[in-house]
Amino acid sequence: IVRTRFAPSPTGYLHLGGARTALFSWAYARHHQGVFVLRIEDTDLERSTPEAVQAIIDGMQWLGLDHDEGPFYQTKRFDRYKEVIAQMLNEGTAYYCYSTPEEVEQMRELAKSKGLKPKYDGTWRPEPGKTLPPIPEGRKPVVRFKNPTEGSVSWDDMLKGTITIDNQELDDLIIARQDGSPTYNFCVVVDDWDMQITHVIRGDDHVNNTPRQINILKALNAPLPIYGHLPMILGPDGQKLSKRHGAVSVMQYDADGYLPDAMINYLARLGWSHGDDEIFTREQLVEWFDTNHLSKSAAQWDPKKLNWVNAHYIKQLSDEELVASVTPRIVARGGDVLNTNLPSVLALFKDRAETLEQLADEAMLFCAPFKEASPELLTQFVTDDAKRIVADFAAQAENIQDWTSETISALIKETLAKHNVKMPALGIPLRLLVTGQKQTPAVDQVLAILGKQTVLNRLK
Ligand code: GLU
Repeated sequence: IVRTRFAPSPTGYLHLGGARTALFSWAYARHHQGVFVLRIEDTDLERSTPEAVQAIIDGMQWLGLDHDEGPFYQTKRFDRYKEVIAQMLNEGTAYYCYSTPEEVEQMRELAKSKGLKPKYDGTWRPEPGKTLPPIPEGRKPVVRFKNPTEGSVSWDDMLKGTITIDNQELDDLIIARQDGSPTYNFCVVVDDWDMQITHVIRGDDHVNNTPRQINILKALNAPLPIYGHLPMILGPDGQKLSKRHGAVSVMQYDADGYLPDAMINYLARLGWSHGDDEIFTREQLVEWFDTNHLSKSAAQWDPKKLNWVNAHYIKQLSDEELVASVTPRIVARGGDVLNTNLPSVLALFKDRAETLEQLADEAMLFCAPFKEASPELLTQFVTDDAKRIVADFAAQAENIQDWTSETISALIKETLAKHNVKMPALGIPLRLLVTGQKQTPAVDQVLAILGKQTVLNRLK
């Protein structure tokens, strides 16, 4: 059975890169009817916060990336890590190292000066027949992994193909600090092992950790997962995606009026493809997802395309869904949702809206208290001629029994013909007088939604 995991470090919100990694791990598990594990890598006590944990969980929930197991917290697993460290010391795959950080620094400098890779020199590494130095009094050791010195470590990366690293390149990694606390790479190894992870899908900033982790897994006789390292996401300017490019927190996209389904669809296309398909449902994504079509090169964040995808999903919403998702946004703007025919109002704008926020802004035309147009606009557009035409329109409008955009549109046409003028001559003064604004959606529809009484009152 396939078991994948998303293993964020809770040092901030769930960002777009993290969300995409989570999405691919989730989709892979779902496609294979496997298990998706959420693991919180919170061992960095200084930088991890409960708020960040919550932000990550909220972000995953908003996106609908449900996990089957977890969240597991590394800080709650220290006993287990210590147990494995003891086991490795016992089996001789790890050893105590009493070198001070200054000494290690010197060793690294020395290696560098000889043109070698800066490394711990193995002073405390036990070897058959070797006598270790006397233990300096009162000094607390770290625990180092006894990395193989011969041969190489190799894996078939799902994205990058076969990667081989010479073991000589790798240091004897510290797996426990002086205070006994386990280090990052070690915790990941024990977790992936204990959680029986079969596929590790993560950002390619972790590629350098992989050979180290594989060597420790091997030392533990643990099965090796398959690894896939995703290329990063670049901003529209080709630089690594960052705050400079706007919102990077997933929840900011919620606030900005993006739909989770649109985010999922868009994020999936950032580094994965299914033929020429740009729009697909969550179910299709799960059905189609494969690692063969993961892109080997960096993906580029494209806000315009995201807006296009979001606009598509907004159009798909039913009236009820649309009202439910926009109502709080109108209320937040102080708009009146009780005395407004929201389904009709939103229908008027939904085909052009790129975000729910935009929709809420536009709906305010109907939900905000009426504000007269400025005197300048009124003098410019509501001329004496215009007043005559509008007055005639209003007089005829009194007689309309069935107040719909069709009957209003018919009357508008009739009035234009009668006065021998073009649409703007009536359309602009009508809009200004009735909505206070010069630009609105189709005037017949706006008038229909406002209702006969409101329209006639304002015209008077
Ligand atoms: N905690 C790591 C991060 O947030 C991910 C580690 C992993 O996936 O192995 O970058």
